[in-house]
Amino acid sequence: MALTLERTRWIFAGQLGPAFDDGGPMMIVEARSVFGRRPMHRAKAHLLLSAMRHRAAELGDRVEFHQVERYSDVVSGRRDLEVIAPTSWAARRFVARHDIAVLPSRGFVTSEADFHAWADSRAGKRLVLEDFYRHARERTGILMRGDAPEGGRWNFDHDNRKPPPKNALSLGLPDPWWPTEDEIDEQVRQDLDRWQSEGAVRLLGADGPRRFAVTAAEADAALTDFIGSRLNDFGPFEDAILTDDWTMAHSLLSAPMNLGLIDPSDVVRTVAAEHAAGRAPLASVEGFVRQVMGWRDYVWHLYWYLGEGYRTGNNALDAHNPLPEVFSNLDADAIESTCLRETIDGMRRHGWAHHIQRLMVLGNWSIQHGYDPVALNDWFVDMFVDGTPWVMPANVIGMSQHADGGVVATKPYVSGGAYISKMSDYCGRCVFDPKVRLGENACPFTAGYWTFLDRVEPRIRGNARMAQPLAGLRRLVDRDAVVDQERRRERW
Ligand code: SF4
Repeated sequence: MALTLERTRWIFAGQLGPAFDDGGPMMIVEARSVFGRRPMHRAKAHLLLSAMRHRAAELGDRVEFHQVERYSDVVSGRRDLEVIAPTSWAARRFVARHDIAVLPSRGFVTSEADFHAWADSRAGKRLVLEDFYRHARERTGILMRGDAPEGGRWNFDHDNRKPPPKNALSLGLPDPWWPTEDEIDEQVRQDLDRWQSEGAVRLLGADGPRRFAVTAAEADAALTDFIGSRLNDFGPFEDAILTDDWTMAHSLLSAPMNLGLIDPSDVVRTVAAEHAAGRAPLASVEGFVRQVMGWRDYVWHLYWYLGEGYRTGNNALDAHNPLPEVFSNLDADAIESTCLRETIDGMRRHGWAHHIQRLMVLGNWSIQHGYDPVALNDWFVDMFVDGTPWVMPANVIGMSQHADGGVVATKPYVSGGAYISKMSDYCGRCVFDPKVRLGENACPFTAGYWTFLDRVEPRIRGNARMAQPLAGLRRLVDRDAVVDQERRRERW
């Protein structure tokens, strides 16, 4: 009788929840070299280590838990391992080299096979998020009424994305659920201190108190709390910023979802059920479902569909400037622009900023200043607690920096200070004036917007969606003076 080999499932940092456990023996490998490849936000290193160690403690005798320098210290020579398809090109190459059995990926609402079938059916058309999102809604039945979208519309953006309430310091919501740290977190801190002093890692930013879930139970608690106290305000204020309210009505679930602690299908079904039960407005629920089942799944699939070369092989706007020093020390004190200073300082404190701060402040600043898109992509991966190799390329190379020339977004996401002024309370606290583009108090974002257009005009001239901004540039009476000012600017 043939013996069936029981394989040990090696789970990675993105696979730490129950959805990745089928009851057999498991293995977790904490490899220190992973944390030392590039500088990393200390809160992110803490979160990854804490999550892996908590999972190892939960699994007890069912898991081999190795703390080593490199994966190969454990894996080389083993013939009994299987993995659920890991979440980066590098990790998939590694398991292929080591002859490890690979199961289909998990942790997303739609499967890789689903996406490929959908993408192939598009026959050369652009892979537009809205089309994919509708396909996912139809396929899953989430927020559907028969064949029609719940509420008769696919998109409630018009009801969402309001500016922040005037003269408010915060949305006035209760504090989000916060985890309680334990002895594992304490040990993680000690180990990170030691690794840093040994020169094995280069960590920046503050570490603590921990603000993101590291276990499935904590992730459930965070979801329950979000639904109970923040979901209804999520939609209206998803694009709004208040300086003194760093979480606004965001769920803080991206990190636990990317750690694999909570299944996004469960998350969107649970949130959709709130609308079905009459407890949450459809606009907020749809906005949230769009972020998770739409955008999150979409960027995951694009990571594979566009290939490994997408990250490094695109620089449509010819951007080659190195990242500024403040991106490598997160010391924002000397920055005068309130929006930039507060966003970077928030990152220093939390390893996190909400999506509109990433896009409208950090990404907008970066595209205006022509930072190298690969360096920027990797910085986002390393500095954000929810940063992963799969999540950033479509977000940074595509959506934010337009380095792909229009694969993900049809035009560069770039704006002057007026839009930041509309959607935040930053400008009222700033030495610069968002309406001014020339002179002592010229807003670096407003002047930077025109300077950006001036620089990339030859490259975007053929983009119909940029015709109006470029016409504005040509009418600008002080164009040369603004561009010259920005070339020589020392205050920002
Ligand atoms: Fe930012 Fe300009 Fe507003 Fe200052 S005035 S906060 S630099 S957008």
